[in-house]
Amino acid sequence: MSANIIDGKAFAARLREQVAADVAQLRAKCLQPGLAVVLVGEDPASQVYVRNKGEQTDAAGMKSVTHRLPAETSQDDLLALVARLNDDASIHGILVQFPVPAHMDQARVVAAISPDKDVDGLNVINAGRLASGLPALTPCTPLGCMMLLRDALGDLAGKRAVVVGRSNLMGKPMAQLLLAADCTVTIAHSKSRDLPAICREADILVAAAGRAEMVRRDWIKPGAAVIDVGINRVPSRDPEKAAEGKTRLVGDVAFDEAAQVAGWITPVPGGVGPMTIACLLANTVTAAKRLNGIDD
Ligand code: NDP
Repeated sequence: MSANIIDGKAFAARLREQVAADVAQLRAKCLQPGLAVVLVGEDPASQVYVRNKGEQTDAAGMKSVTHRLPAETSQDDLLALVARLNDDASIHGILVQFPVPAHMDQARVVAAISPDKDVDGLNVINAGRLASGLPALTPCTPLGCMMLLRDALGDLAGKRAVVVGRSNLMGKPMAQLLLAADCTVTIAHSKSRDLPAICREADILVAAAGRAEMVRRDWIKPGAAVIDVGINRVPSRDPEKAAEGKTRLVGDVAFDEAAQVAGWITPVPGGVGPMTIACLLANTVTAAKRLNGIDD
């Protein structure tokens, strides 16, 4: 068997077009959704993410504001900026790029963001609303995974789903979304026993452990949908390039062998990754509508 490849890059492009169309409609009603991204410090990977977010927000026709603060910014100053953004009626989504420097308490920063503008969906209010089946702003990557799954499989009711990973950002909200879609859900983690056997039960397997190519061919039920969230850098396949320090990106799934067994599979790169920013834009539109009393 050779799996159907789930093209997250193409899906994300369509989603961005849909978001841009929604933004145009809102702007016709004099409402321009606005996203503020806050970056503290000089982390190179975070700088790339923040730049990409800003560019894609602009391209969708939204207001895009980026606050770049020095690494030595105090937590109080960061919280004061968040408070100003909470009060700014032209901003509907606030995202503080993590990780923040070590002298800051990430949980306090998340808690300071208004739940109505928490487009990363990390605030406990949104996590609680999601767990309670109430409308919530949902973390972007799990939301993107759900869109890809629904597009590939249609109705997910009754399917056995296994999520490997239990982070607040990824594993837990993913499991909640699958449960809300009437799947029978198992959450596995680093202390789970016989992970391959757990994974083999899955009609839907979501790998979000951050362990390069951990999920092997014999972990996968034939025909299963495999969603690979992992982003891991490993040495280049070419020994000469590897010796020069060149790397390549791989997921948590050994793609080539898994694709021989799975029914559907996301590649890395080009699978889940592009969905994250597209869903951030979609969440910002959702937040703008809700803040202005417009139905989703
Ligand atoms: P975390 O490190 O916060 O969580 C990893 C989870 O995986 C933990 O629950 C951990 O278990 C579990 N885990 C680790 N090792 C194993 C193992 N050997 N067997 C079973 N479970 C294991 O990571 P995130 O959730 O933030 O991210 C996960 C991956 O997804 C990373 O590779 C990250 O880069 C990627 N990612 C990709 C995004 C995208 O846009 N595509 C966005 C967000 C993340 P325990 O709780 O017991 O420690």
